Amino acid sequence: MNLPCYLVRDLLPLYHDKLCAPDTVRDVEEHLDGCEDCRAALAALDAPEEKSVPDTEDLQRAQALQMLQRKLVRSRILTVVISILAVVLVLFAGVYFTHAYFSTRYIDADPSALHVSREENTLYLTADPGVKANCMSATVCEYNGKTVVFFSVYGSVWDSWFGSSLSSGGLDLVRNGEVEAAYYLPYEEYRALFDLSGIGTELAIGGNQSPNPLLTGAVLMWEKG
Ligand SMILES: [Zn+2]
Repeated sequence: MNLPCYLVRDLLPLYHDKLCAPDTVRDVEEHLDGCEDCRAALAALDAPEEKSVPDTEDLQRAQALQMLQRKLVRSRILTVVISILAVVLVLFAGVYFTHAYFSTRYIDADPSALHVSREENTLYLTADPGVKANCMSATVCEYNGKTVVFFSVYGSVWDSWFGSSLSSGGLDLVRNGEVEAAYYLPYEEYRALFDLSGIGTELAIGGNQSPNPLLTGAVLMWEKG
């Protein structure tokens, strides 16, 4: 009996493992004698393990793939690290230049938040809570025939964001000095007239020029009674 190929292919595993009945064995062998394809299929069953062992080409391909994956991971990590560094650098530069710019831009304290009072021979400057301008400069000089003190209270824009407020305990404007008046000056006007660090510098201004065009921003804060 000549079996069709599809039936032989189904039977081949059983035949190979010698599980077929003798009649079946005979029919299968009869078919195999005349069918090269089915013989080849049987031969393949004899060497199934050989096929599962990857050849060197497959191994090389797998290794290459692994290396590629590792390279990819490495380049991804590198990209992330470079991105983080770039962001940090941009932030740092941003803070640096923002600080450089705003720490040299000054704002004036509102003179209505400042108070000058006298105790014995000392003139005190006090500020309402929360006055952010935290620098004070003062200069005693002759002005229109009187000994007066000019002072300015200011701070950088940067300090107004992050800096401390003016001391609420009060600052000495003039110690042991006989002054007859205290004038507040805005920062720009004060700086145009005096050295910012020139506390106590004697400087004759004004004289008999009255009104002095330089002192447009002057605010009389205290006068000897
Ligand atoms: Zn066949």
